[in-house]
Amino acid sequence: MTGTRTNVAVLGSTGSIGRSALEVVAASPGLLNVVALSAHRELEKLVEQARQFRPKWVVASDADAAGSHDWKDLPKGCQLLAGAAGLEQVVRQPEIDVVVAAIVGSAGLRSTWSALDAGKRVALANKETLVMGGPLVMQLANERGGQILPVDSEHSAVFQALQAGRREDVRRVILTASGGPFRGYTQERLSRVTVADALNHPTWRMGPKISVDSATMMNKALEIIEARWLFDLPPEMIDVVVHPQSVVHSLVEFVDGSVVAQLSPPDMKLPIQYALTYPERIAGVAAKLDLRQSLQLDFEPPDHDRFPALQLGQEVAREGGTAGAVLNAANEAAVAGFLRGELSFTEIVPACRSVLEQHDFESQPSLERLFELDAWAREEVGRWVCT
Ligand code: MG
Repeated sequence: MTGTRTNVAVLGSTGSIGRSALEVVAASPGLLNVVALSAHRELEKLVEQARQFRPKWVVASDADAAGSHDWKDLPKGCQLLAGAAGLEQVVRQPEIDVVVAAIVGSAGLRSTWSALDAGKRVALANKETLVMGGPLVMQLANERGGQILPVDSEHSAVFQALQAGRREDVRRVILTASGGPFRGYTQERLSRVTVADALNHPTWRMGPKISVDSATMMNKALEIIEARWLFDLPPEMIDVVVHPQSVVHSLVEFVDGSVVAQLSPPDMKLPIQYALTYPERIAGVAAKLDLRQSLQLDFEPPDHDRFPALQLGQEVAREGGTAGAVLNAANEAAVAGFLRGELSFTEIVPACRSVLEQHDFESQPSLERLFELDAWAREEVGRWVCT
């Protein structure tokens, strides 16, 4: 770290995770310092954030939007970069210690790749990076001295719980799932779910894509794959339990039967902060658990019939290779189709499975091959929607 202050780049700073990351930074004066911010389309908001945090760089990752935006309110001394190249350039700056990777979807992979290539610590909120290219990304981090710390609440919990014992003594990792807003729905009721229903998550406030993923439980499927690569775990050691209160963020079971869990109210500021300050812990702004109030914690097994995404996630975690990239892209396209009203809720997962089954599987793909398949899978879903 540079001196006593950790210099932070927040990529995707206008999104839900990005804004929470800036709250964490704002609440830790003298410890964390913003040196770069990026946004894709919300450039007005980006300028407002630049005025508050005075970064050295801002990146408008959509070059066209950058070109037509009026930048007169950008603070003096703040350098403007544009496009994907701007992102890849900024994360390599020597004064950056930690990159918060909060760009949504597969668009986040290249900048995360560059940050790891430059040996940075990446606070990874973008699970697509590991879903798409887990083996390649982990290998790059190892070779270049980069480090990935999870921001996903479940993976942060696993990362914390793993510190309670030796790796060879871990029996399994159990990811908790809220079950989403449709936990108790019948199959018939699920088929009539609207976009508004799917965006109304019971415990977490999130963007539209991840809210739909949570409702289909595809989010948990992607998290199984993420955990498989991040912690180098065979998929059969990764289980899912439904826990509607979202207070226990995940659990690790050791060989002696001891189960270690991490608990906190559902608030992304805690995993973000831990990834920024690790191995230190600071008081911070995240909500705290109040055990003077009675608190009920429920756990139940997931229903694989109503939520077939989980099974798909296990299969893709086992297959590796190109399967993660295809699933991720197919799901992004299918969710976008659902949000536009072109696909019903219960068609999202079958569309993903159909595209996965049609693709030419490769066990050792290159990064460029993954991007080709990403584009291919999106088109295939388009065809699935039309027929
Ligand atoms: Mg999560």
